[in-house]
Amino acid sequence: MHLIVGSGIAGLSLAFSMYERNIPFKLIDAKKNYSSLVAAGLINPIVFRRTTKSWRVDDFTPYLASFYKRIEALVGANFFHPISIRRIFAHEQERDEWCKKQLQSEYSSYLNQITSEDDAFSNPKNNFGTGTIEHAYYVSTVTFMEEAYRFFESKQCIHYEEVDYSDFNTTTTSYKNETYEKIFFCQGYTNAENPWFGSLPIQCTKGETLTIHSTKLPEDVSLNLKCFILPIGHQQFKVGATYDWNSTDLSITEKGKAQIEAHLTTLTNDPYTIVEQKAGIRPTVLDRRPLLGKHAEFPNLILFNGLGTKGYMMAPLLASELLDHVLNGAMLDPEVNIQRFAKEKK
Ligand SMILES: Cc1cc2nc3c(=O)[nH]c(=O)nc-3n(C[C@H](O)[C@H](O)[C@H](O)COP(=O)(O)OP(=O)(O)OC[C@H]3O[C@@H](n4cnc5c(N)ncnc54)[C@H](O)[C@@H]3O)c2cc1C
Repeated sequence: MHLIVGSGIAGLSLAFSMYERNIPFKLIDAKKNYSSLVAAGLINPIVFRRTTKSWRVDDFTPYLASFYKRIEALVGANFFHPISIRRIFAHEQERDEWCKKQLQSEYSSYLNQITSEDDAFSNPKNNFGTGTIEHAYYVSTVTFMEEAYRFFESKQCIHYEEVDYSDFNTTTTSYKNETYEKIFFCQGYTNAENPWFGSLPIQCTKGETLTIHSTKLPEDVSLNLKCFILPIGHQQFKVGATYDWNSTDLSITEKGKAQIEAHLTTLTNDPYTIVEQKAGIRPTVLDRRPLLGKHAEFPNLILFNGLGTKGYMMAPLLASELLDHVLNGAMLDPEVNIQRFAKEKK
């Protein structure tokens, strides 16, 4: 039996991977989700402005599509959706870069060729044309999380409590006197409190989003310029997000709202009403790579964290790679292995 502490997208991806492999586990969560519930759930393969592919996107995208569809079938719910993303170019160079990359084989499956319709796309700031991308998706995060919790509750393998670190015994790998094979810590930004992994460089990047109602915005495409607008059905749209580095304040703010509304004017001049505002904290690593691996002194303690801005893209495949590493001895991608920080200390 393994123990997973924290059930955001990191802990849930691990739990579903273990479930699919028939590996027994127990999940513990404080029910204080900081990020996975707030996330828009957009999975965008392209980093705009520089028009580059997101890190390891060719590995992540096919895996996540298969993963979320399998989980939909398992829990009997629909939360994974393909979406077209339309980028409004910020300047001439961005359009030139898009045209150049679109001809390259490694980009042509992601970037569509710009057509006259793309150039004519009606938008307040369409001064340089627009382009659309392929292989983009979004996860309805609230549905995904609620259904995942319901599924694991029905299997009686999730417990809701905030762990007290003094209840762990690292010599026997136990928690509250129950012994486990491995203990996986997947607790997002509260990692700083963890006695064994807390010194790793996870930055707390606060983000806020708005949900708006509009009768004018398109429901079949996600628009992107200074912010994104993601249609979520019933004429509702998620808009965001803000970036506030090094903040652990979980409250929504007037400043966040004003910033999103200012950015929204680059995508629409039509009236809308605000339905909801949310705030969360992304666990971000200084080198922008996740943090996975075994503790140097207590190898039965494992970390899965640092998913930053792309948890829904990276977590499914990384969870599977982490299990292969921990349980089957496969090599872990050195770019995500926590050992990269141990080396620096020497
Ligand atoms: C505004 C915003 C928008 C975002 N948009 C996107 C997006 O569009 N696409 C995307 O892929 N990503 C997005 N992200 C990023 C994404 O949310 C994160 O990458 C991801 O949620 C991190 O997941 P996690 O499981 O590591 O952490 P969390 O989701 O924070 O989960 C940690 C879990 O650990 C539990 N926990 C913590 N401490 C304890 C303890 N002591 N005892 C027991 N349980 C504990 C908490 O209750 C929580 O459920 C966004 C984030 C924000 C804030």
